[in-house]
Amino acid sequence: MTSYTVINPADESEISSIELLDVDATDEAIAAASAAQKAWAGVSPADKAQLLRRFAEAVDSDREHLAQLEVSNSGHPISQARWEAGHVRDVLTYYSASPERMFGKQIPVAGGIDVTFQEPLGVVGIITPWNFPMTIAAWGFAPALAAGNAVLLKPAEWTPLTSIRLGELALEAGLPEGLFQVLPGRGSVVGERFVTNPTVRKVVFTGSTEVGKRIMAGCAEQVKRVTLELGGKSANIVFADSDLEKAAATAPYGVFENAGQDCCARSRILVERTVFDRFMELLEPAVQGVKVGDPADEATEMGPLVSAKHHAAVSAYVPDDTNVAFRGSAPTGAGYWFAPTVLTPTSRTDRVVTEEIFGPVVTVLPFDDEADAIQLANDTEYGLSGSIWTRDVGRALRVARNVEAGNLSVNSHSSVRYSTPFGGFKQSGLGRELGPDAPLAFTETKNVFIAVD
Ligand code: NAD
Repeated sequence: MTSYTVINPADESEISSIELLDVDATDEAIAAASAAQKAWAGVSPADKAQLLRRFAEAVDSDREHLAQLEVSNSGHPISQARWEAGHVRDVLTYYSASPERMFGKQIPVAGGIDVTFQEPLGVVGIITPWNFPMTIAAWGFAPALAAGNAVLLKPAEWTPLTSIRLGELALEAGLPEGLFQVLPGRGSVVGERFVTNPTVRKVVFTGSTEVGKRIMAGCAEQVKRVTLELGGKSANIVFADSDLEKAAATAPYGVFENAGQDCCARSRILVERTVFDRFMELLEPAVQGVKVGDPADEATEMGPLVSAKHHAAVSAYVPDDTNVAFRGSAPTGAGYWFAPTVLTPTSRTDRVVTEEIFGPVVTVLPFDDEADAIQLANDTEYGLSGSIWTRDVGRALRVARNVEAGNLSVNSHSSVRYSTPFGGFKQSGLGRELGPDAPLAFTETKNVFIAVD
């Protein structure tokens, strides 16, 4: 086994050292999960529901601790981290209602009765990225457990601490040994083994489009089920008839939340040409008003980038000779700080316009009319989220129906609610998480015909 030193991105101090699993240890965990799943499938629906509610209560009791772990491991502002821990509790509570609601169908046929059952898949492997470690994990493990599966969770190398803690809380809450295991490890070792070990029947992957494509290709070997939540380059479309003050005041929070390390970041602001200059005048103070600093401070709205390597990758998009429209502020000294940055490139094909930067860098581009706005919004391989600002409800609906993205908001930037489906069009992903149907994605439909004659 090798180990990995976890670093606090706000001050570059070492937090702890985490053992990384090798392939043999991963196989042992998969075998234990398979045994635990067979027992779990036989637990009554009401008892499954009760254990998931206890897991939710354990998370709730540990909320402040989980939040503090995320502050030090990921640099998330404390107010955001508290919301994330509460969200994990809420996701577990929401899906605790599912075991008793895994309805099949009774279908009218001749000569007998036809019924369907939603059977669990078996062992599910979840691979998470570093940007929202605990919330993204919960979107997979809560509905998967509710549907009768065992779950193995591999957190990202940089940010394993809250996932490890969630594994402990599951055991404390009384979930059977082996049913939900957290396996810190390299993507190329533990993650890859989820793809190649045939006992794992589904892989839920959230991360880069590049790695997602490899996972999908690997899963094809065994026709293994796969859900992919990948990258984004979402548009925030601002029409001249919108509440321009509100659109400008909220735009920084649509892209700079979590320092722009958000798959749903509205990293392309598209503004109707007639109000472009006025919008930029309003945007500048809004960007400068974003409170960037110590994540432990209650007033902080944006923390550092997650690591030195990621800081270098984001910085490469804004070399010294870049024509920056304006910037917000950021601390200097230790820590991977990057000030909110606004660019107004002259070309629609500039790589800052087309590539996912995954940092606090936004481009603002003008458009001519509704058709041009839709064309520009869709001029990307991604299709995850987006926002539409207009007072014309007909236009809002027309544009929402024509933008090729899975999660759109009108006159707001909200995109993730546990009770509504979430996922991407095009190369932003495959399948949907959250919402009432999520447990079904962790089942096979079985059809049974019973002759009555
Ligand atoms: P990444 O693809 O580098 O890594 C994601 C996870 O995959 C990590 O746990 C990593 O260890 C693992 N991994 C790496 N190589 C692997 C392999 N060969 N086999 C199996 N697993 C492997 O992504 P990242 O840098 O951690 O995350 C950032 C990306 O995630 C961005 O592109 C972002 O848009 C995307 N993201 C998408 C969503 C969504 O819901 N659509 C949410 C959050 C992040």
